[in-house]
Amino acid sequence: MVKVGSSPSAERREALTDVLRRARGCVRCAELAATRQTVVFGAGNADADLMFVGEAPGAREDEVGLPFVGRAGKLLERLLGEIGLERADVFIANVLKCRPPGNRDPLPAEIANCSEYLMAQVELIAPRVICTLGNFATKLLRSDTAGITRVHGHAEVRQIGARTVRLYPIYHPAAALYTPRMLEILREDFAGLPALLAQPAPEQPPPVGEPSASESPAPSRDEPASGLPRPAPPKTPTAESGPGVAIEPEQMGLF
Ligand code: URA
Repeated sequence: MVKVGSSPSAERREALTDVLRRARGCVRCAELAATRQTVVFGAGNADADLMFVGEAPGAREDEVGLPFVGRAGKLLERLLGEIGLERADVFIANVLKCRPPGNRDPLPAEIANCSEYLMAQVELIAPRVICTLGNFATKLLRSDTAGITRVHGHAEVRQIGARTVRLYPIYHPAAALYTPRMLEILREDFAGLPALLAQPAPEQPPPVGEPSASESPAPSRDEPASGLPRPAPPKTPTAESGPGVAIEPEQMGLF
């Protein structure tokens, strides 16, 4: 799954770790910051071609600090296995990095507050395909109110922050846990992923100005190393980044 000719993963992980530090110190959503046990940043292969975006951590994810570790996550793993992939091949994130109390729906202000982190993840991981799981991720990344029932299983080339990707909405695995027909549809949509991943990477827009979503740009895997200057990742913690404790990639669930 990892692209041949990838640029250095270490650079990508270092930049992601900076974003993780900012997210861990985030208090933009007062209620979520007060009630969360952990910030569930996302986990998987930082060099992945395929990224999944779910809704928000649930109780189990909040405890463990990793996304999709409950029943929906087990189903996601099973469906990945059926197309010859495993968690270590992909990156899994959520629209919200903190659990909404009682698993209520994410609020529009929370989605807006948190989207900086998701955009930074997309920019740094630079996946070719983003698979949105369910309504919240789909509506956010399509910037459209069309629901998942209408758009699932249809891939489109979309600009997501700094990246152009193939966006592929599918049902949320939680929706398929108790509904066999939904599981069948999810399985059919999953079966479309290998062909999508086999397509050439969508053309990227020419770089304009300074990087925005993160403080250091994604090491590019679909363009030759051009020698473009890149600002070094910040060495000093920002106001939101906490006390500057070193975070090993393993702690982030990155591979
Ligand atoms: N559902 C989600 O959307 N995300 C998780 O991490 C777990 C369950």
